[in-house]
Amino acid sequence: MEEPATRQQVVDFTNTQIAFSSKSDKDLKGQARLFKFMNNSTLVQMGSPFALLGARMQIPFIDSIIKKTIFTHFCGGETLNECQKKIDHLHKYKTFTILDYGAEGKTTEKELDETLEEFLRAISFAASNPSVPVVSVKLTALSDNYILEKWQSGESFTEEESKRWEKVLYRVNAMCEKAYHHGIKVFIDAEESWIQDTIGYLADEMMKKYNREKVCVYTTYQLYRHDHLALLQSDFEKAKREKYLLGAKLVRGAYMDKERERAKEKGYPSPIQPDRASTDRDYNEAVCFCVDNYETLAVANASHNVESNRLQAELIAERDLPRSHPHLNFCQLYGMSDNITFNLADAGFFVAKYLPYGPVREVVPYLIRRAEENASVTGDMSRELKLIMEEIKRRGL
Ligand SMILES: Cc1cc2nc3c(=O)[nH]c(=O)nc-3n(C[C@H](O)[C@H](O)[C@H](O)COP(=O)(O)OP(=O)(O)OC[C@H]3O[C@@H](n4cnc5c(N)ncnc54)[C@H](O)[C@@H]3O)c2cc1C
Repeated sequence: MEEPATRQQVVDFTNTQIAFSSKSDKDLKGQARLFKFMNNSTLVQMGSPFALLGARMQIPFIDSIIKKTIFTHFCGGETLNECQKKIDHLHKYKTFTILDYGAEGKTTEKELDETLEEFLRAISFAASNPSVPVVSVKLTALSDNYILEKWQSGESFTEEESKRWEKVLYRVNAMCEKAYHHGIKVFIDAEESWIQDTIGYLADEMMKKYNREKVCVYTTYQLYRHDHLALLQSDFEKAKREKYLLGAKLVRGAYMDKERERAKEKGYPSPIQPDRASTDRDYNEAVCFCVDNYETLAVANASHNVESNRLQAELIAERDLPRSHPHLNFCQLYGMSDNITFNLADAGFFVAKYLPYGPVREVVPYLIRRAEENASVTGDMSRELKLIMEEIKRRGL
């Protein structure tokens, strides 16, 4: 694709007035306090183990502190009904919700079946809620990691493992089938490379089944992997050949350090790009590829990177494509990058927030990842804190 020399600005991501128009002065000051606390990497490092332990042991005092602070900021609630207020609030600002049940690392068949039940409830809830078009899922909430890893290794399953694998297939299908019948989309998250081939395989099977007329299931491409741009392109060709539509969620990727450490420890080449510039280059190329093919491919640009969001918005505007086309999605996490979400929504693009929910003990690992992401080792202000402080200044608070 030819890049024009200069692009017209379509969205102003520096507009903090629009970014925080949904926040009262009190909310904004509360956010500033929270992000100032998280900005301190020593406090985050010291606090994380306490939070994890306290939540696991369900110590009421720790549970209550988490719930009133970081949980309220990043999550919808402990139950689906508790999420309703935030879903309505987002919708008031032209933003959709992606329900994200916070279960991860489940292992027993009983736990995995219970998690499936919650996903099925989430689909029914979404179906009765026009502002909730998508439910996201980590397949490690529907399968023991061990089964996913063993399938990928190509080693033969024992009889018991084969039964467990059959149950994984059953659960993944039950979820996608229900979503398909209720007109809800399913985003299948990408995870670590040693289980990602299995996740990709399961996502492919679901897309073949449920993406014939329109896109119901999305698989995820991690562009921090040096092989995922090529994978996106070959999956697209395969989908064309086999006559289904590809659903492609694009992310840079969340497990970079873990991937590099494991590759080093086990002595295999790291699947991660050699540097940041290569990740950015492939990410933006993937965005261009998806917009080029938007008629038979649906994209969900899942990023907090201003440039990657700007690129998709500008391509859509330049080609005069409908801004709210269901194949041209953007999404960010609830409680982060409001400058991207609400400025895109204000400009008429199709944008949604991932809204995690679940009991505090379930979502604590997610909350710790968010706190670590917003901590600074250099003492600089995080991206989020800078924006909040700018808006506080603009309002003269
Ligand atoms: C809605 C949503 C859904 C998500 N779903 C998933 C998912 O399914 N699976 C998943 O893995 N992640 C997922 N993520 C997490 C996402 O991968 C991280 O938030 C993301 O990596 C941060 O990147 P960014 O695009 O927001 O941009 P930035 O914050 O600008 O980029 C940071 C990212 O760049 C990459 N990077 C940084 N330095 C280097 C380097 N030296 N070499 C190579 N790459 C580098 C890393 O991926 C790093 O996380 C999701 C994020 C969002 C917003």
